[in-house]
Amino acid sequence: AQPDTYRGRFAPSPSGPLHAGSLVAALGSYLDARAKQGEWLLRIEDIDPPRQVSGAADAICSQLEAHHLHWDQQVSYQSQHHAYYQHALENLWQSEHLYYCDCTRKQIKARAPFYTGYCRERQVAAEGAAIRLKNDNPVTSFYDRIKHQVMVETGFANEDFVVRRRDGLWAYQLAVVVDDMRQGITHIVRGADLLTPSAWQLTLWQVLAQTPGDLKNTSLPQLMHLPLVTGTDGLKLSKQNHAPALDSNRASDNLEQALAHLNLTLPNELKKAPCDNILAWAIEAWSQLNR
Ligand code: GLU
Repeated sequence: AQPDTYRGRFAPSPSGPLHAGSLVAALGSYLDARAKQGEWLLRIEDIDPPRQVSGAADAICSQLEAHHLHWDQQVSYQSQHHAYYQHALENLWQSEHLYYCDCTRKQIKARAPFYTGYCRERQVAAEGAAIRLKNDNPVTSFYDRIKHQVMVETGFANEDFVVRRRDGLWAYQLAVVVDDMRQGITHIVRGADLLTPSAWQLTLWQVLAQTPGDLKNTSLPQLMHLPLVTGTDGLKLSKQNHAPALDSNRASDNLEQALAHLNLTLPNELKKAPCDNILAWAIEAWSQLNR
């Protein structure tokens, strides 16, 4: 991508159909891209089979279509990107940024609140071990377009975080950063649950940008973390706590609700209007917010 062109994305995990919370992330990222005449890509993050629900990826695509949230390009699937992740991993090994760790979560918690590099010098065997990044230049604060300057707890920011899990699956941090870099993503708009991990992702982004390989010369993305939708219990709506699936037959109402959550009050005359009319109004209204 040209540095001055906007490219955003929506990156749902197919652990269930979209619910009211994930619609906010989809809509916010869509409006921001369209308000800036940018592209909006759809990437299905299907690299965690134990948490996936069959049919969810297709359900998500149909739900987006029903709400007239049309994406650019082909849908991309992380499950087809293993070679890219492997390639990035090899480059990180070659530049001596990685090491094996066989600690269990329990062992780590017993030693300290954060992982402090216990296995760095231990020469742990590869079999059944996680792979961690030597986090020597951690990002500890960054700018978010809603929250402004964000400071991350040092212990967390400094952690040698996992890039490949003990079960052999890719860590979300690695997959998301490799894809965002490869796809030339310039703006990330997503839920505030991912605010803190942004520190790790920016760290990894910088490391990969300086590591030999094909992910060089990519400037850091601009970030925006949207307020989370909570249920009546005060907890974040999520597929894990069985938030009800969005009803595609109520698309206009769903958009109205999601807009309200983004501080955009749909004018009365647009209530129950076709999605395209609602979205056209919303793109304009989002631009006026000038975030
Ligand atoms: N796949 C992640 C999720 O559904 C979101 C990834 C992202 O937007 O960076 O929680």
